[in-house]
Amino acid sequence: MEIVYYPHPTLRYPSKTVRRVDRELRSIVREMFELMYDARGIGLAANQVDLPLQLFVVNASGDPEGGEELVFVNPVIDQPKGSGVSEEGCLSIPGVHADVNRPSQVHVTAYDLEGNEIDTVVDGLLARVIQHEYDHLQGVLFIDRISDSAKKQVASELEAFEFEFQSQRAADKIPDEQAVHKRLAEIESRYC
Ligand SMILES: [Zn+2]
Repeated sequence: MEIVYYPHPTLRYPSKTVRRVDRELRSIVREMFELMYDARGIGLAANQVDLPLQLFVVNASGDPEGGEELVFVNPVIDQPKGSGVSEEGCLSIPGVHADVNRPSQVHVTAYDLEGNEIDTVVDGLLARVIQHEYDHLQGVLFIDRISDSAKKQVASELEAFEFEFQSQRAADKIPDEQAVHKRLAEIESRYC
């Protein structure tokens, strides 16, 4: 398992509801935390590791020894309040940063891996991370939410990612569109 980079098609794929949690999915989640820590991130969504599942992990401290490890399965966000601008980055677009305006507080419901319901109001950094990861599950990236002037500033960096992706695909290191969708369908039939 590895983190996929922009513009990998799974990053644009709307994730499906998880209906089954098994031992393998638990170990996938554990591996997602490890990949996130290795990449010095604070959140990681399933489609960032090429899985079409409504599931993301967060540790707002970014510290494997500290903070709280949170797993959100089938999350729903509502009741946005306030707004704030802060710089964001993304493990699928490493090195690219830009300001994003988001609600400063949201209400989240979800399930953890044991099937317990999560029902909480979050603000601050945690609210921002959760909204960023929730976006991933809808196929939305933070670069979709930045100003036109910020888009111009990051355009050449994004082009470099697009060029790298095309080169890798040409070298058969990334499967073609059809193969990507076939694999996603197989995972869906197991968990969704
Ligand atoms: Zn991200």
